[in-house]
Amino acid sequence: MYTNVILARMGEITLKGLNRGTFENKLKANLRYRLRNFGNLYVFQSQSRIWIEDREGNNPYFESEEAASEVLKAVTQVFGIVSASLVRKFNGDFEEIKKNCVEYAKEVLAKNPEYNSFKVDSRRGNKSFPLNSMQICCEVGEVILDSIPQLHVDVKNPDFTVFIEVRDDNYVYSESVMGHRGLPVGTSGKGMLLLSGGIDSPVAGYMMASRGMNLDAVYFHSYPYTSDKAKDKVIELAKIVSGFSGRMNLYVVNFTQIQLDMYKNSRQDMLTITMRRVMFQIAEKLARKHHCGCLITGESLGQVASQTMEAIDITNEVVKLPVFRPLIGLDKEATCDISRRIGAFETSILPYEDCCTVFVAKHPRTHPKHADIEDAEKNLNIEQMVIDGVNGTEVIEI
Ligand code: ATP
Ligand code: MG
Repeated sequence: MYTNVILARMGEITLKGLNRGTFENKLKANLRYRLRNFGNLYVFQSQSRIWIEDREGNNPYFESEEAASEVLKAVTQVFGIVSASLVRKFNGDFEEIKKNCVEYAKEVLAKNPEYNSFKVDSRRGNKSFPLNSMQICCEVGEVILDSIPQLHVDVKNPDFTVFIEVRDDNYVYSESVMGHRGLPVGTSGKGMLLLSGGIDSPVAGYMMASRGMNLDAVYFHSYPYTSDKAKDKVIELAKIVSGFSGRMNLYVVNFTQIQLDMYKNSRQDMLTITMRRVMFQIAEKLARKHHCGCLITGESLGQVASQTMEAIDITNEVVKLPVFRPLIGLDKEATCDISRRIGAFETSILPYEDCCTVFVAKHPRTHPKHADIEDAEKNLNIEQMVIDGVNGTEVIEI
């Protein structure tokens, strides 16, 4: 008889010095929070690894490999985890270990009939165990060979590996699921993500969360020019990002009147940049109010007219908080790859308009100068726009 448990491996934080404990505690707390809907679980650390076990012995999520895959996926989504495995835990002597390993190898083979080579790898945490790890590997390898004639040993490039761990209990597993690495969320402060309905900004949020940031998000909504469906899409994207970054507030700014004023009273070729400068100022005010230490955008150099170096400079100068742009050097395809990997892509490409496509200029300035922006803003009461924007904000808890 065995029970299923999960083994999760920590990455970069094991390189931390004195404050390593803080990082590890945060990681365990984040795991407990992420797994809160999977029953009464015991999350604990042993050396540089984390174990997750069912406390009560009747948790349906731990009954089969299929059911556990959902928990495993949630574990790998927690930043700071490099990989995780579903592991069989059992007690007993070496005879018991051999029996369990053979049974396990047979099951792996039943699922992967094309496999014909394997190796055994073992760790001995219990130093009073009569065999060392080399002997464990050899003897277990031998019984597996004896019981499953189709297999041969290949230590360099096996189709699968039987990992054995002998401690107070015994453990056997074979596969690992890759995690999203990074640092535990909450170890790098909080950032305000400018979240549109596109592909880029959810990826930008994911990337900053992977460096340990908590997130809040702000979305500029121009109803009815952007529909309720567009807003729902942003809410959905915020949920996907929060699967990695944890609890988040989404601030929805009512941007309609501001955009209409600009459209009427400002230069067409500078419209996008003027609009972005106001967005940044509203975002900064919200950020300070809600204790965020930076703004985050999905900008990538040269991708569109408003993302040239000059345009970024002119947008950036209206705020004092640092603006993090994790996609600045990525090309679109690389961003799309990440978007797919985090499960945001299908939502991002749903065809609802965003406010920038509605009020877009036909011939935007790609290399704006200061004189252009002064001219574009001379008939606008920017200060009032920013105040109105902040005041007209709806909060949605994600
Ligand atoms: P995305 O794919 O994230 O929409 P994009 O390639 O469409 O980006 P832009 O529309 O120029 O590029 O926006 C650049 C960045 O500005 C976005 O990544 C996002 O951070 C922010 N942004 C744009 N529109 C909005 C909006 N309506 N609400 C909040 N943030 C926005
Ligand atoms: Mg966009």
